[in-house]
Amino acid sequence: MTQIDLSGRVALVTGASRGIGRCIALAIAQAGGRVAVHYQSQEAAAAGVVAEIEATGGDAFAHAADAQVADEVEELVDACARRWGQLDILVCNAGIWKGAQVAKMTEGQWDEMIDVNLKGMYLATHYAVSYLKASSAGAIVNIASTAGQRGEAGHAHYAASKGGMIAWTKSLAPELAPFGVRVNCVAPGWVHTDMAAAALEADGETINAGIPLGRAGEPEEIAAVVCFMVSDLASYMTGEIVNVNGGSVLCG
Ligand code: NAP
Repeated sequence: MTQIDLSGRVALVTGASRGIGRCIALAIAQAGGRVAVHYQSQEAAAAGVVAEIEATGGDAFAHAADAQVADEVEELVDACARRWGQLDILVCNAGIWKGAQVAKMTEGQWDEMIDVNLKGMYLATHYAVSYLKASSAGAIVNIASTAGQRGEAGHAHYAASKGGMIAWTKSLAPELAPFGVRVNCVAPGWVHTDMAAAALEADGETINAGIPLGRAGEPEEIAAVVCFMVSDLASYMTGEIVNVNGGSVLCG
């Protein structure tokens, strides 16, 4: 077995309308998986991802949910189960990145960051886990960040949410291992998406100088690793935090 083969698998990718999540959804579909393309508000973008998958003979549908709202996330997971009767792969990718110095950080800013990035992951996992346990190849990948490992000045609430995702991953891996569900994390650094576009535009040279490989990543480069990690090629891998950041985590 040397090829990634996800045929017969059903995946839910949160935040799949754009950026890294979009590329993960496309990569899973290219490997033969069926994909639920989750989004919050960008309905046309999500429909475009579904159309791209269908154009190559794949099976996908789009479903909206605010990651912070339990009822909406429960309905998202139920929609996958209704359509395909199974859920094998969960990729918790939806997220936000905003700046705030601690003295000026409002309770609302803190709550929004933690609720979208951390509670959103908890909710998706909470509602999906019974399906993942029932699968013969259950796999979760959480998209964290270098910020969760080395911190990020001016974005402490974001770093705290991503550090929380890493601790959650390390906790769930042994908890779910007896059920055959693997739980891993990918930690990107700078990636060319809407999230990072303004910072990369304003400060690209300085940012690139701090990355050993000398450039920000492409979302496809994150997706390729996620696709491997949810596949049987990674069948003995759980509880890992995989750096896909051009080595930048080594320099912080
Ligand atoms: P992006 O291009 O800004 O896309 C964000 C995605 O999350 C969109 O699909 C968006 O849905 C969804 N989303 C945002 N808020 C949501 C909410 N409240 N409820 C449900 N969905 C919501 O971001 P990205 O750069 O691809 O980032 C994806 C993940 O990688 C994030 O967790 C991020 O922290 C992480 N990451 C990114 C970088 C980077 O440099 N880009 C670096 C390290 C880690 P809509 O399209 O409907 O708005």
